[in-house]
Amino acid sequence: MNSDSSTPQFPWFDQITGPMLIAGPCSVESEEQWREITRALAATGRVHLMRGGIWKPRTRPGAFEGVGEQGLLWMKRASSEFGMPFMTEVANAQHVEAALNAGVSALWVGARTTVNPFSVQEIAEALQGVQIPVFVKNPVNPDLSLWIGALERFRRMGIEKLAAIHRGFSFFGESIYRNRPMWEIPIALKAQWPELPVVCDPSHIGGKRELLPAIAQKALDLNMDGLMLEAHPNPDAALSDAAQQLKPDHWLSLVEGLIIRNQSSSHPEFISELALLRARMDRMDAQLIQLLGERFDASAELGVYKKAHDVTIFQLERWNEILQTRSEWGRELGLSDEFVIRFLELLHKESIRRQNSVMNPKETNQVNKKTEN
Ligand code: PEP
Ligand code: MN
Repeated sequence: MNSDSSTPQFPWFDQITGPMLIAGPCSVESEEQWREITRALAATGRVHLMRGGIWKPRTRPGAFEGVGEQGLLWMKRASSEFGMPFMTEVANAQHVEAALNAGVSALWVGARTTVNPFSVQEIAEALQGVQIPVFVKNPVNPDLSLWIGALERFRRMGIEKLAAIHRGFSFFGESIYRNRPMWEIPIALKAQWPELPVVCDPSHIGGKRELLPAIAQKALDLNMDGLMLEAHPNPDAALSDAAQQLKPDHWLSLVEGLIIRNQSSSHPEFISELALLRARMDRMDAQLIQLLGERFDASAELGVYKKAHDVTIFQLERWNEILQTRSEWGRELGLSDEFVIRFLELLHKESIRRQNSVMNPKETNQVNKKTEN
């Protein structure tokens, strides 16, 4: 490996104040395009690390699959000229070798690669003994263990500068998003691995320029540690992800429009109000749990009657009526249908489990045994 000292180092998380900002085009398309975006982003003085894909994993064949290894040379030249560190996506050991030889400042693993433990292991092994920052995107499917597993493979190979990138999750059906954010997943990642920095990639979540400011702000409000946003000198002419890339001046106004909130405040009024509100919430949570306990006791009692009269557990009409009435009650109180329905589904599932344990105690015992083992 011939790592080149002319590539500028970029500051890791503990050396910067505020969110880490990563920007650059979806794909490196030509030396001109890369040089121009590097020049423009360097001029903003706000970018910590440039990104650009040269090996592009595309959903359908025939789409632009990247300029390949020649792009590394273009990246390296502009990087030295404008003093901008850069990274690219790697999906196998050959990519790693070529990228390291070109003196990249960091690497990222794409969402379609994170799903495959064989590929992740191959990349991690190719990095054994090398100290380079590695960013691991979430897998395309909402599987937190798979994401953590991929990160662990790099940690085991001794990679110390490790970070995650939240780029949302694939789905089938309608949504305003290109990839559903499912914020609960990066939040759970932070809870399980608190020292791991998590960068949000609003571009691949939103898929459309107009959605990016709100997603970026939400990411910061959820304590994400940085933002990766795609930027292109002429987004409409981009060879990949045209609808979601920002012109450099739009990128800068998005970043300047972000509100950076504090993790906490030592203001006495804030501290006392917070304590009061939390105490109120604690009391309400205790009441909610108490009520839930009582409600499920009633479900079990219902099971006793249904069993005595040979009546099925699931009653479609009753379930539809519950959904309809409760959503209406919720709407009057400003609760979203989505929340009320998800809550009811959970409630219903547990209620069915309780009734079933009364009606079919044998089956319940077997299931319990299996899960214990
Ligand atoms: C990309 O960053 O351009 C990319 C291909 O992203 P993802 O792996 O998140 O789809
Ligand atoms: Mn992209």
